[in-house]
Amino acid sequence: MRLPKNSLGMGDRFGCEGAFQLEAILKAAQAGASIAPVWNKSYREHAIIGTRPADVRQEADAVTRACGFKEPYFVDADHIRLDTVDGFLDSSDFFTLDVADFIGVDPPAQPCREFVQHCERFVGTLTIPGIEEPLQITQETIENAAAKYLLAVQEAGRLYRYIRDHKPEDGFITEVSCDETDSPQSPTELLLILAAIAQEGIPADTIAPRFSGRFNKGVDYVGDTACFAREFEQDLAVIAFAVAEFGLPEGLKLSVHSGSDKFSIYGPIRQALRKFDAGVHLKTAGTTWLEELIGLAEAGGSGLALAKEIYREARGRFSEMCAPYASVVDIDANLLPSAERVDCMSGGEYAATLRHDKTNPAYNPHFRQLLHVGFKVAAEMGDRFLDALNSHKDVVGRDVTENLLERHIRPLFLEE
Ligand SMILES: [Zn+2]
Repeated sequence: MRLPKNSLGMGDRFGCEGAFQLEAILKAAQAGASIAPVWNKSYREHAIIGTRPADVRQEADAVTRACGFKEPYFVDADHIRLDTVDGFLDSSDFFTLDVADFIGVDPPAQPCREFVQHCERFVGTLTIPGIEEPLQITQETIENAAAKYLLAVQEAGRLYRYIRDHKPEDGFITEVSCDETDSPQSPTELLLILAAIAQEGIPADTIAPRFSGRFNKGVDYVGDTACFAREFEQDLAVIAFAVAEFGLPEGLKLSVHSGSDKFSIYGPIRQALRKFDAGVHLKTAGTTWLEELIGLAEAGGSGLALAKEIYREARGRFSEMCAPYASVVDIDANLLPSAERVDCMSGGEYAATLRHDKTNPAYNPHFRQLLHVGFKVAAEMGDRFLDALNSHKDVVGRDVTENLLERHIRPLFLEE
């Protein structure tokens, strides 16, 4: 099983938007960009919403069958670990192995020595095609990388083998993610992580490093975009080098997590992909749930009332909503509108405050981030929320498709 060159991870928290997400993929194909859809949902999302991995599989199969979609598509067990993987084994064919918790934990001495010996050939000046300045690698660089990442890669190996033993041969895509950690990985560290992944025997299809800058949920990239562009290009060069050097799978590519809404780096990513003739996996999730809220608000009447109620509740339970996502949101509570203020908004005003359109003066990223993490409130509403989505599915669905196609796929894959 192989992951196509370009793929888009899409989260559909309440399982109602799959067909509209797929429509964005189909329209992209008509416009000349072939992108494999991947429906992703993490254990954390399932736990908060009360869904099961089988639900995602059912939805993906149903929506692709309904429109006669013949291209490959996948169901991603997003951010799983050994203690959470079991429930995903039957229904997923894409596994995102999350080993961030093991980064920085001391590895056993013997494998550590072996890894350092294995990489000693890189000590000195290493020229990598596509990187202007050669990498300067010392014995210490390798020892530090081993101390920081080797145990995490070994854990990924354990998890990979566990899944492999429970799936048909060649039956799944493997992603190794080390993004949910505080410090970004340099291109040199990425090279050494890939060396460890190859040594561990993991046939990684994608790798999700922690890039520099902030990748907050549902809002734009925060950081130096020129710096990011250089780092991203160097990572692409490192991957091409590592595939040849370590015998990793040909199609190995970068995966960008919390990838939705990072509008200011889509241009640099697109240019870098063209320059290196590389593909990418861009993982999005909550951006679709926010379009559901925007659609409900625009629908007016009972839809708008529900969108306001969700904000009021999320605002009142601010700390609880933010807690599971503390490291990936930056919300200034002083810049949040009061629930009373929001109650007075028209549907258009609510939508404009929420929609990620930086040219609109009404757009409020704090409002957007709080609602991004506030999906628990909608989950608690149960059928009341689902019924509202169903009653207003035309306007909600149009927003879902347009957001993925126009704000994500077009600038990443279609613009010249
Ligand atoms: Zn992630």
